[in-house]
Amino acid sequence: MKTRIKLFATVLIVLLFFTNCVKRVDNGKNKQTKKIKFGIVLHGGAGNITPQNLPPERAEQYRTKLKEALLTGYNILKNGGSSLDAVESAIKVLENSPLFNAAKGAVMTDVGTCELDASIMDGSNINAGAVAGVKHIKNPIVAARKVMELSPHVLLAGDGADTFAKEIGLRTVPNSYFYTPRRLKQFKKYKAQKKQTSANENSSFKKFGTVGCVALDIHGNLAAGTSTGGIPFKKFGRIGDSPIIGAGTYANNQTCAISCTGQGEYFIRNVVAYDISALMEYKNLSLKEAATRVIMKKLVKQKAEGGMIGIDRNGNIVTVFNSPGMFRAWATDSQSPVIKMFKTNN
Ligand code: ASP
Repeated sequence: MKTRIKLFATVLIVLLFFTNCVKRVDNGKNKQTKKIKFGIVLHGGAGNITPQNLPPERAEQYRTKLKEALLTGYNILKNGGSSLDAVESAIKVLENSPLFNAAKGAVMTDVGTCELDASIMDGSNINAGAVAGVKHIKNPIVAARKVMELSPHVLLAGDGADTFAKEIGLRTVPNSYFYTPRRLKQFKKYKAQKKQTSANENSSFKKFGTVGCVALDIHGNLAAGTSTGGIPFKKFGRIGDSPIIGAGTYANNQTCAISCTGQGEYFIRNVVAYDISALMEYKNLSLKEAATRVIMKKLVKQKAEGGMIGIDRNGNIVTVFNSPGMFRAWATDSQSPVIKMFKTNN
């Protein structure tokens, strides 16, 4: 009997010892693969953004506004808020700033109006909303979200979208609210030159300024949004990639959340945001591999300029662009804010 008890005790001790060891190994592993709890990335457009083109005081203005937008979204995520709220709020800050080509400060069409496009997507249920060619909605990103939540549709355009926004009580403004002295000057110059070239060939096209944001929240949900005035001196009625789900914006909890900026026509033709997600889903590529393949290979081959920001379901952050620069910023629960604009390290 005594021998049996001794044997039992020995087996128990050995078992306890091994369980402890396994636990320690697990802990080590968890430490190595610590998952990001939440993260946010935003962009303020790609283009000819170089130290030569952007004097230090102006660069500082961009840095300050990007940081404000980033922290707005970041604080929402930190307090357990949703990625959708973070994306919408961060974009709203950039839309209200005349520095960017979205809402206030948007570029003008060939007839001197501002026509705005925006979209938002919820990666948890692949629901989406967008507005295109709107002229009176103060914050198009807010309207895009309302289209998603309050209507059975995905995309509302023109007068119908403006009317929808008014009816649900969103703030509307005269089109002149979006004008800034800088854009009026550009438009006057454009008119004076009586350019016969298309908007795509226009040199001022090289300065983008679209804004976008993607986020992962602590609940594991991804969201993406984009807002723009489009390309300078576009034909009135032209709609770019930003309000097109799958082209300029895409989010899916299974893969990633993406917002693009650049020559919209190419981003539409190549369904860029969805293409990146599909490469992850069907080819098992990482977000970085997929984005690099599309932006740096596919688009470059077509001489298409632009970039993207993205975050995957594990919180990996990627910013890829083939233009000289891209306004971009990001932060996660374990990484303090990073703000960059040029190709190099700042
Ligand atoms: N992609 C936008 C458009 O084509 C322009 C931009 O990103 O600045 O409308």
